[in-house]
Amino acid sequence: MKIAIIGGGASGMAAALAAAEKSENSVVLLERQARLGRKLQATGNGRCNLSNLHAAAGGYHGDQPSFWEYAISKFPPESTLDWFRGLGLFTVAEPSGRVYPYSDQANSVLDVLRFALEKPNIQVKLGAEVEKIKKTAQGFQLEFGEDTLDCQKLIVACGGLAGTKLGGTMSGYKLLRSLGHRCTRLRPTLVQLKTAWGGVVGLKGVRANCRAEILRDGTPMQSSQGELQFTEYGLSGPVIFEISRDVCQQKGDWCCRLDFLPEIGEDALFAELCRRKTTALPASELFTGILHNRLGRVLAQAAGISGQTPIAALDDAALREAVRMVKRFEVSLTEPLGMDSAQVTAGGILTNEFDNTTMESKLVPGLFACGEVLDVDGDCGGYNLQWAWSSGRLAGLSAGKETV
Ligand SMILES: Cc1cc2nc3c(=O)[nH]c(=O)nc-3n(C[C@H](O)[C@H](O)[C@H](O)COP(=O)(O)OP(=O)(O)OC[C@H]3O[C@@H](n4cnc5c(N)ncnc54)[C@H](O)[C@@H]3O)c2cc1C
Repeated sequence: MKIAIIGGGASGMAAALAAAEKSENSVVLLERQARLGRKLQATGNGRCNLSNLHAAAGGYHGDQPSFWEYAISKFPPESTLDWFRGLGLFTVAEPSGRVYPYSDQANSVLDVLRFALEKPNIQVKLGAEVEKIKKTAQGFQLEFGEDTLDCQKLIVACGGLAGTKLGGTMSGYKLLRSLGHRCTRLRPTLVQLKTAWGGVVGLKGVRANCRAEILRDGTPMQSSQGELQFTEYGLSGPVIFEISRDVCQQKGDWCCRLDFLPEIGEDALFAELCRRKTTALPASELFTGILHNRLGRVLAQAAGISGQTPIAALDDAALREAVRMVKRFEVSLTEPLGMDSAQVTAGGILTNEFDNTTMESKLVPGLFACGEVLDVDGDCGGYNLQWAWSSGRLAGLSAGKETV
């Protein structure tokens, strides 16, 4: 059977390897960029957080909330890591469940996949951007540049729109729509959040471990704890990515409440600040030894405390306000950064038009889809790549099966 796969990213490579497990299948993997897995190479800040040991328990979103379950239960993180081990990749899991290559290099993940694809029944075509799909009596005809390719089964693994500089594109959505499929509204997720608060400029580059909570019109939405990074636009870092889904996508006052000392209670912090009244230090040093210096000064200022005032001269009300700034600092949010900065696309091709036990289209027999092009997005921490491996493998195995 001749199987074509459009998209040589994470899910497309997994699909190709699965489809080629039957030596009688002939697999063609088409990638529009000059090399395979360009986005994969940039994942996890170049470290590639390729899976999460907790992925089978949840952490996925989309209009059909349980669509992801079958693919991940059939090829869960443990099996994925065994599969990668079989390809020659050593991995290591952090206590949080995040899995990385032992080499700490995303390149290692891509390399073992590239080497595995060197099989007699797999042909890789680079620089081949599929522009049109025609349904034929035998299957499909793909048009790319001046060329055409006929196949019996087709897997669309074009990825999402996020990370446009790394190859994120509308292409997969357009190709599937041309075959009758429908798409939800696309939104950026796992993305930085912008603020109108001017103070952020002075904090650019500062990192802090904190608890962050999103509020809409004062109602708590989602929260997480971890590393925050201030940027010239607003808030970034893993803790923000984790809570960025659908922020500012509806009308309302959106803000992020930050607790810069989640392990220390307000009274304990107040007692420590009172103790500092016995020193001769100015208020600009109120948080020295506790917080990043720049952050400490900005928070003291936000509490209305002048840096020149001696700490000894601050009354209880001023210190209580300083404590409030550290424990409940609110940053107004305006919007997320765009698709070019987002790691993942929320939304995609409607999953109720696909059979989640095979990844085959319910509208067009012989057509399959996998990965981010579908309306499935995962939490931060390896969940999205796990979806790409699991859904890609399921699509490849299903497409590679003989049908009567
Ligand atoms: C900066 C960044 C960091 C990330 N870090 C992580 C991480 O650490 N862990 C994690 O789990 N997830 C991470 N992600 C998300 C993850 O990379 C994606 O969810 C995953 O790669 C999706 O796999 P995919 O195969 O669906 O799409 P992709 O990996 O994007 O592959 C799709 C491929 O299809 C090709 N293509 C598209 N249209 C056509 C066409 N018409 N013809 C031919 N080829 C085409 C594209 O060029 C691309 O190579 C990150 C994303 C970004 C942008």
